[in-house]
Amino acid sequence: MDFRPDDGLSAFRNEVRQFLRTRLPDKLKGSVSGVRGPKGDLQHWQRLLHEQGWGGPSWALEHGGTGWNPQQLYVFDEECAAAGAPPQDIFGQRLLGPVLNEFGTAEQKAQHLPGILSGERLWCQGFSEPDAGSDLASMRTQAVLDGDAYVINGQKIWTSYAHEAEWIFLLVRTNPSVKKQAGISFLLVDMKTPGITVKPIWTIDGQHHLNETFFDNVRVPVGNRVGEDGGGWGITKFLLNNEHAATAELPALLRFMRQLKQLGQRQTVNGTPLIERPEFALRLVQMDSELTALSMMVRRVVALEMDHSPQAHVLGSLLKVRATDLQQRMGDFLVEALGDDGAVSYIHEPADQDADAPAPYEAMRRNVASEMFFRRATTIYGGTSEVQRGIVAKLLFQF
Ligand SMILES: Cc1cc2nc3c(=O)[nH]c(=O)nc-3n(C[C@H](O)[C@H](O)[C@H](O)COP(=O)(O)OP(=O)(O)OC[C@H]3O[C@@H](n4cnc5c(N)ncnc54)[C@H](O)[C@@H]3O)c2cc1C
Repeated sequence: MDFRPDDGLSAFRNEVRQFLRTRLPDKLKGSVSGVRGPKGDLQHWQRLLHEQGWGGPSWALEHGGTGWNPQQLYVFDEECAAAGAPPQDIFGQRLLGPVLNEFGTAEQKAQHLPGILSGERLWCQGFSEPDAGSDLASMRTQAVLDGDAYVINGQKIWTSYAHEAEWIFLLVRTNPSVKKQAGISFLLVDMKTPGITVKPIWTIDGQHHLNETFFDNVRVPVGNRVGEDGGGWGITKFLLNNEHAATAELPALLRFMRQLKQLGQRQTVNGTPLIERPEFALRLVQMDSELTALSMMVRRVVALEMDHSPQAHVLGSLLKVRATDLQQRMGDFLVEALGDDGAVSYIHEPADQDADAPAPYEAMRRNVASEMFFRRATTIYGGTSEVQRGIVAKLLFQF
C-alpha cells in the first residue's frame, strides 16, 4: 500500500476542513474529552452533519450515507478530531446501521434509519450479561413467543448510555434447547416499553456512562426481530467484525498527542517548560513515533477492509490491542505531566451558567484525570485484550 498523500484525498480533506471551520459551533468544540459528552451536544452535531448530507459517514450512498471509502472516512475522523468535534453515536452509526442495511426488512429500515442519520433516535447495545461477556453466547435473557409478540425476561449489564437511548438492540435467547449459538435472536426494542428498568453504574472516572438493564415481561412485536428466529449469532458476528479500524479510536489518540504537546509548552516546572526537560521530551517523542506507526497500521487495516481481505480480522485485533494500550499510557502521561494538578478532577464542579465556558486548555486540564480513569476500560470493551490476543494466535498461521 501507498502512504503518500493523494490528490483526491487532499481535496477531500480541504472540503472537510472547510465544513468544520464554518459549521462546527465553538460551543461544541468545548467537548475536549473524547468520551461522549452531553446528549444534546451529540444530537446537535449529528443534526449539522445530517444537514450537510454527512449524517452517515461510513454508510453507502444507497443507504443514505456519504458513500465515502474507508480512506475518506479515516480523513474525516482525523479532521474531526483535530477540530475538537464531538463523537457520533457509535451504536446507531457504526453498529446497528450496517446491520439494518444488511439484514433489516424494508419496514425496519424505513422506521429506524432516518432517526439514526438525523440524530433524533439514539441507540444502546444490550449484549453483555452478568455471566456472559467475553463468552457472549452463554447469554440467558429469554424471549418467549406469545402470539405476535416476544415476552422478554432477564438482565443486561454494562449497557452504555441506556439512560439516554430511545431504543436498544438486544440479544435474546429464543430457543434454549439447541446449541447455544443457534438459539439467539436479535431484537429492536423501544426503551419506553413497559417492564424495562435502567439502573445506573457509576464508574471510577466519576461519570455515569454504564447501566444495568432489566426486562420484566417486556412485550416486543415479532416484527421487531432482525433476521430469522435463531439467526442472531450470525448478525452479531457481522456487527462485531465491522469497522476494525474504528476500534483503534485514532481520534482519541490524536487528541491526546495534541494535548501532550500543548501541555509541554504551557506547563512549567521551576520556570522551565516541560518540553525543555529531556525526560518529558524523550517520552513524548517515543509516543509520537508509536502513534505514527499506529496510524499507518490503521491505514493498512483500512486498505485491507477495502479489499475485503480476511487479514483485516487479524490486523484489526492487533490494532485494538496496541491502540488501547497506547491510549492508556498517553492518558497516564497527561496526568503525570500535570503534576499535583493531575490528581484533581474538577469534572463535578457545578457549571456556572453565567460564566464563559473554560478555555479549551483549562477545560482539558479539568478532564484529564477523569478521562485517564475512563481509558482503563478500553482494554475491556469491544473485546478484551486477552481475547484479542487469542484471536490473533488462532488466525495468524492461516495466512
Ligand atoms: C466502559 C464499558 C462499556 C461497555 N459497554 C457495553 C455496551 O454498551 N453493551 C454491552 O453489551 N456490553 C458493554 N460492555 C461490556 C463488555 O463488552 C464486556 O465487559 C467485555 O466483553 C468483557 O466481558 P466481562 O466484563 O464479562 O469479562 P469476562 O469475560 O468475565 O472476562 C474476565 C477476564 O477474563 C479474561 N478472559 C475471558 N475469556 C478469556 C479467554 N477466552 N482467553 C483469555 N482471557 C479471557 C478477560 O480478558 C478478562 O480479563 C462495556 C464494558 C465496559 C468496560
